[in-house]
Amino acid sequence: MTDINLTIDGEEVAVTPGTTILSAAGETGVVIPTLCHRPELSVEGNCRICVVEVEGSPRLVASCHTPVSEGMVIHTQSARVLKARKVIMELLLAGHTGPCVTDECARECEVHCLAAELEVGPPRFGVRRRRFYPVETLSPYVRRDLSRCILCRRCIRACTEIAEKNILHMAYRGFSSKVVTGCDEELNAEVCRDCGVCIEYCPTSALLKPSEEVA
Ligand code: SF4
Repeated sequence: MTDINLTIDGEEVAVTPGTTILSAAGETGVVIPTLCHRPELSVEGNCRICVVEVEGSPRLVASCHTPVSEGMVIHTQSARVLKARKVIMELLLAGHTGPCVTDECARECEVHCLAAELEVGPPRFGVRRRRFYPVETLSPYVRRDLSRCILCRRCIRACTEIAEKNILHMAYRGFSSKVVTGCDEELNAEVCRDCGVCIEYCPTSALLKPSEEVA
């Protein structure tokens, strides 16, 4: 199969057809930040943190699910890209912001760590909870605080593709979108056992072991 030739941040690269921009960048040592993406999970491209600029394209594209094509010229660090990533992160934080913006768990939160990497400053957008979700403590295995959820869906994919349990799925729309079990029931020991895979994949403190402290 003939390789695809492209340029990433000024470097000429040749990769096999079907390779995504994210993977092609990785092969050249260019790191593109990601959030909803995990190499071992299926690709969703829902967070848009991994956007890059492709010359000739009017829009920024999500690198995790965009395949390379011959002659592409890609910029992963242009001013437009960096600005877009910051705004995307600010919007994610606006939806995610709970007490953990200021409390101890912010230090452990992948979202807040990435925000720091992207040099996101103090919030410019009004803090808005999609809805108030009471913390779920019924399960002896998973403590869920969906007010801290950023809807990255990593837990759903991990539950389905790694744990092969299919317990979690998305429900509702827009600001009401929510990761649910069954018909939006509280997670309990009947449906969810102690594999803990969803907790490992959650980039926030929305999912924790009941024993873990939350400030
Ligand atoms: S609970 Fe965690 S892993 Fe699941 S969608 Fe929300 S932030 Fe992502």
